[in-house]
Amino acid sequence: MEVEALLNQQRLFFNSNKTKDVSFRIEQLKKIKTLLKENETLLYDAIYEDFGKSEFETYVGELSLIYQEINHFIKNIKRWSKQKKVCTSLVNFPAKSYIIPEPLGVSLVIGAWNYPFQLSLVPAITALAAGNTVILKPSELSVKTSKVMAEIINNNFSSHYFHVVEGGVEKTTALLNHRFDKLFFTGSTSVGKIIYKAAAKHLTPVTLELGGKSPTFVFADTDIKMTSKRIVWAKFLNAGQTCVAPDYILVDHTIEKEFLEALKNDIDTYYTNKKDIAENYLRIINTKNFDRLSKLINPDKLYCGGGLDRDKRLINPTVLQNISFEDDIMQDEIFGPILPVISFTNLDETIKQVKEKPKPLSCYIYSKNRKIINKVLKELSFGGGAVNDSVMHLSSSKLPFGGVGLSGMGSYHGKAGFDTFSHYKSIIDKPFWFEANIKYAPYSKTKLKLIKWLLE
Ligand code: NAD
Repeated sequence: MEVEALLNQQRLFFNSNKTKDVSFRIEQLKKIKTLLKENETLLYDAIYEDFGKSEFETYVGELSLIYQEINHFIKNIKRWSKQKKVCTSLVNFPAKSYIIPEPLGVSLVIGAWNYPFQLSLVPAITALAAGNTVILKPSELSVKTSKVMAEIINNNFSSHYFHVVEGGVEKTTALLNHRFDKLFFTGSTSVGKIIYKAAAKHLTPVTLELGGKSPTFVFADTDIKMTSKRIVWAKFLNAGQTCVAPDYILVDHTIEKEFLEALKNDIDTYYTNKKDIAENYLRIINTKNFDRLSKLINPDKLYCGGGLDRDKRLINPTVLQNISFEDDIMQDEIFGPILPVISFTNLDETIKQVKEKPKPLSCYIYSKNRKIINKVLKELSFGGGAVNDSVMHLSSSKLPFGGVGLSGMGSYHGKAGFDTFSHYKSIIDKPFWFEANIKYAPYSKTKLKLIKWLLE
């Protein structure tokens, strides 16, 4: 269907006010959950074909988060959609003041490929929960998952309300030429800039969920074994193709050796020593990314891993040592299973170096010392993060998820997502029986004095 016709249909449907009915929205959310449940096998098969993601990782990293968000919305949107009373200032007496949440209208959600279900469906579901209509454009790189989402959604929802458009740059560009009421984009910072520019033409509000290099501090007083175990899981999950994965390690030089050994030990335990590594471990999405990542493995700095299989697009979990901020691997987001380790001696100097880079999407701090933890939390700006853990902050519907600076703008998950797809309409509501005439001409010194007394 032509983009323009689709958009017109959605605008017409939105203007019918049907989506403003909260019970209609709840019905649709329940329907999506049922459809996903009924088609789970298709979803698992599609993502496995795309890049070898196992049923376990698909459930834990994708479907469970979608179900959790749906449940959270079903439970809360009635309350969130109600108008809220606030105090009325004296100058407006007698009046009521209230705020009415309203959906923005027709929204466009553009997804990334690395968690193709979650990163497309969570924002789409959030938009629907807030009462918008949705056109969803999943990433063309995860071909099978894009196809299966299009089939499930387009066969079961009217295109007036929720529709998947498949395609790559050309299709996205065609969509972006039109005026939407909201754009929600997940992907790289460079494409984020294209989206922002396209939105500016129509002054469309935008949420950009982008990437970046997420630093992970490992301090001398940490529990080394537990720190290593949590980092190895978070880094090599999805073969490092996770926007919030620890991008690089900053380890106190006094524990560097012990920490590197712990990393190797955990990599061996969870991946390398397994008979068939591919069972628990993903492929790189395409050969272009495989080749980009392969070049980042400097053999002179290899600590462990480095195994490459181009035909299978597999890169074994890899750790690089003796890294500095000048190394090639430190110039851009890695987005793959390579973990560079920088050892530091001076925390202030290290924080300064991190600050010279764009604000990251996440930051992780491993330490038992509250003073040190609070210092990093206070001095560094980043989207979100964790203390003594990595990645897991994105699993909570109670924590707004998003970046800052070059790692993004705006946030979602739970109420934050509802707000992202809503406008809050502020109303003063007055009766006719009284009017304080002091604001009307002719102005006088006495009136001004009275106004000042009221306002100050
Ligand atoms: P990408 O920017 O290449 O693609 C994302 C989407 O943009 C896709 O749907 C694609 O079709 C579209 N697109 C690509 N080029 C375009 C163009 N020229 N014009 C218009 N649309 C275009 O990103 P990706 O490779 O899918 O994902 C990797 C990046 O996304 C990484 O930087 C990662 O950190 C980031 N990411 C961020 C989050 C987050 O939640 N913040 C989540 C996942 C990935």
